[in-house]
Amino acid sequence: MLTKAAEAGCALVDLEVESAEEAKAAQLARFKAGLRAVGTALLVSYHDFSRTKGLEQAAKRIEAFEPDFVKVVSTARTLADNLAVLKLIEDHSLASHVVGIAMGEEGLVSRVLGPRAGAAFTFASPDDGAETAPGQVTARTMVELYRLDQLDQATRIFGVAGNPIGHSLSPLMHNMAFKRESVNAVMLPLKTKSLDDLLTLVRELPLGGVAVTMPLKQEVLPHLANMDPLTAKIGACNTLRTGADGKIYGFNTDVAGVVRPLEKRMRLKGARIAVLGAGGAARAAVFGLVEQGAEVFVINRTHEKAVALARKAHAKSLKQDQLAKNKFDALINTTPCGMAGIKQAMPIKENELNASLVFDMVYNPLDTPLLKLAHSRGLAVISGMEMFVQQGARQFEIWTGKPAPEAEMMRVVELALRRKS
Ligand code: NAP
Repeated sequence: MLTKAAEAGCALVDLEVESAEEAKAAQLARFKAGLRAVGTALLVSYHDFSRTKGLEQAAKRIEAFEPDFVKVVSTARTLADNLAVLKLIEDHSLASHVVGIAMGEEGLVSRVLGPRAGAAFTFASPDDGAETAPGQVTARTMVELYRLDQLDQATRIFGVAGNPIGHSLSPLMHNMAFKRESVNAVMLPLKTKSLDDLLTLVRELPLGGVAVTMPLKQEVLPHLANMDPLTAKIGACNTLRTGADGKIYGFNTDVAGVVRPLEKRMRLKGARIAVLGAGGAARAAVFGLVEQGAEVFVINRTHEKAVALARKAHAKSLKQDQLAKNKFDALINTTPCGMAGIKQAMPIKENELNASLVFDMVYNPLDTPLLKLAHSRGLAVISGMEMFVQQGARQFEIWTGKPAPEAEMMRVVELALRRKS
């Protein structure tokens, strides 16, 4: 069949190493001569669909057949598995035309960075739904999003880490910003369940910086060489940066994501601001706004958590039934109510909306039920998308030392969100 493919004009045929080993020497020699006669290259491949182990032995088995291309494909269970694949490529790329890939979502790093490490090529699908292996992305994504053809040894690698992470808009936003500002860098989604695994990749790839999502935001704190004072107070870090000394430094840009959109619209000193929720996102809002001199009121489904957060941050707590009796300059929703897939659409009752401005951290959908209600009453609104872009813009600045192209970042995120809804 492979001979027929070659005769039909295929530039390259892929023979599994197991088949090569089973074939008789004479049969293999005939096959190779047939390929040579029509100018088709021979690739001999090894696939492990369960793990990343024994790559070196696999490459040796393949090299024994002296093919034109050596292809070793494993399955990534961790981010660190990418390191093993990239090392194999580096070790073999001088002697052979080598292709190395770790399949699965965790293996994306190897797919994108393989050619930069010396791989002859990488694999991508022609279109969505036409993938031939787990973790494969489209050729268009490889070229347009990750700029595969422009990555070189000087390219700084960044990531957004979490689980799940496939739907994160951070790679789209940051890669567009890198391109626009001519920064030789790329951001990849890093699916991981373990902080240790992420830190191994940060140190050994190495990564220039990482955007981290829950629960890594808290787990990472003991591993930081230093962090800014507000990050320490909040107890959550969403941005890692590797220093020139190789140490990892932590920042919290969620605070700027809350404060900047608000201060563009109002004077925060003395402003009365209600924060609905007392989880991770609420902490960034409450600590950040108290620091700006706002009078912050925390309201949460589990009242004790509101009391505890308010006490720590020098804010005040309110029970939900007191909402309607109070007037606020701004009300911020930090609960997931209104988010696509969450049953509860509104974090408050309609008669409890008693603020001049409404800020909803939820950004999927863009127009949440709470923002729709605020719009219908003629109130000022801030969408969660603006927070997402602002926190990302600060990350860009921390990583590159350049001002972020905020308007373009907003445009690309808004377009992606509108396409989704
Ligand atoms: P979290 O730590 O799990 O906290 C969720 C908070 O919401 C808790 O206080 C919880 O109350 C409350 N809550 C959950 N379900 C509720 C319901 N049905 N009714 C009333 N209260 C409810 O989550 P998080 O990390 O803070 O994130 C919260 C939201 O903010 C998410 O939708 C996230 O996407 C969004 N966010 C957006 C941005 C952005 O850039 N725009 C950034 C960060 C987060 P209990 O204490 O009673 O459980």
